[in-house]
Amino acid sequence: MANKEIPYKIYLSEDELPRQWYNLRADMKNKPAPLLNPATFQPMTFEDLRPVFCDELVRQELDDTTPCFDIPEEIRNFYKMYRPSPLVRAYCLEKKLGTPAKIYYKFEGNNTSGSHKLNSAVAQAYYAKQQGLKGVTTETGAGQWGTALSMACAYFGLDCKVYMVKVSYEQKPFRREVMRTYGASVTPSPSTETAVGRRILEQFPGTSGSLGCAISEAVEAATTHEGYRYVLGSVLSQVMLHQSVIGLESKTAMDKYGVKPDIIIGCAGGGSNLGGLIAPFMREKLRGEADYQFIAVEPASCPSLTRGKFAYDYCDTGMVTPLAKMYTLGSGFIPSANHAGGLRYHGMSSILSQLHADGLLEARSVEQTKVFEAAEMFARVEGILPAPESSHAIRVAIDEALKCKETGEEKTILFGLTGTGYFDLYAYEKFNNGNMTDYIPTDEDIQKGLAGLPVLPE
Ligand SMILES: *Cc1c(COP(=O)(O)O)cnc(C)c1O
Repeated sequence: MANKEIPYKIYLSEDELPRQWYNLRADMKNKPAPLLNPATFQPMTFEDLRPVFCDELVRQELDDTTPCFDIPEEIRNFYKMYRPSPLVRAYCLEKKLGTPAKIYYKFEGNNTSGSHKLNSAVAQAYYAKQQGLKGVTTETGAGQWGTALSMACAYFGLDCKVYMVKVSYEQKPFRREVMRTYGASVTPSPSTETAVGRRILEQFPGTSGSLGCAISEAVEAATTHEGYRYVLGSVLSQVMLHQSVIGLESKTAMDKYGVKPDIIIGCAGGGSNLGGLIAPFMREKLRGEADYQFIAVEPASCPSLTRGKFAYDYCDTGMVTPLAKMYTLGSGFIPSANHAGGLRYHGMSSILSQLHADGLLEARSVEQTKVFEAAEMFARVEGILPAPESSHAIRVAIDEALKCKETGEEKTILFGLTGTGYFDLYAYEKFNNGNMTDYIPTDEDIQKGLAGLPVLPE
């Protein structure tokens, strides 16, 4: 098996598409801390969460012991339109780098929404439909999640209300139009449609918005409209559960050829794609069956894992959401405009946060010009135009491969290529014109964000 020649692309058959999602929490000795009710500071219960999320998704969110959840047939059938996704051996990149390392990437950009987000969008829309709801509300930053969700809602015949961070709404008209083509209504956030939006506008007139603020609006819209629930594209444990298909497929494909990765790398925004990619591998590490090095990569401009604090915080700016214990920069932290919109969230999945706190997951931050240098090299040799978010993982994969070149080690590297960059060409234009800058928050900026962390009763 081990000597079997590895093709450029390892495709799995439809039959090999996972039948169950894997819940990594079941194998964690130190479970992620529970979500807390912001009014009572007690752990959120099923009844607390029901007005906001679909029932089945609440069950998944609160379950940290069931290892596997069946993937309903309707969701699996939808997955079949674009999954299993290919696992690619980056022969051309290896050659270009002159490295003895073997590089693989799992490509999640081969669907219209252009990213891994569709894996959870279809699951969340399915459960909303099952419950007989009229529609769902959500926020979107750069637009990838909103696009994925509008596709999923169109498929199941659900209404979809998207609050889009104002700066993206104005600067990224293309994604906005994709969402509208799939039937979603798109509102720039902060808006005057919600009480929290009006409050934020009053406090910060002229603000260009943030993900945290759009979340507050979407939650309010869900809880004030009959037959609607709120859905979220990352951070939550249910999302990471759905994204485990990425890792499960990767593992099956690698096992087939007797390949074992030494290093697994992913970009981390809210943490769901990375969590999904590493899940089955981390399972083996937690059980002492195998060892892997896991690396989360985040932008230097929004460094929650590398410079944030592991503490309870709100998931949104308006402080209407439950509190999650996570690495956070503070819910009031508004990152500078950088070009990886999907990585501009102030917090991080509580599962990944716990793994990082326990020393099981490393974290690195990278500057955006270095990220785009990696993106450009990758596009030229591997052919795919990568999303800026994904290019954070490419950057560190290249760095690790170059280390192998120095030491002569033949490590096997696996990274997640979460999406394509066709809607990010203003960012590429800036890079190509030499006008891209690197903004790194000062310690004072970070302190300012952290000063707003909620104080919990003893
Ligand atoms: C949203 C997004 C990310 C960030 O994903 P998380 O799972 O939230 O960490 C990464 N890459 C792309 C292409 C995205 O759209």
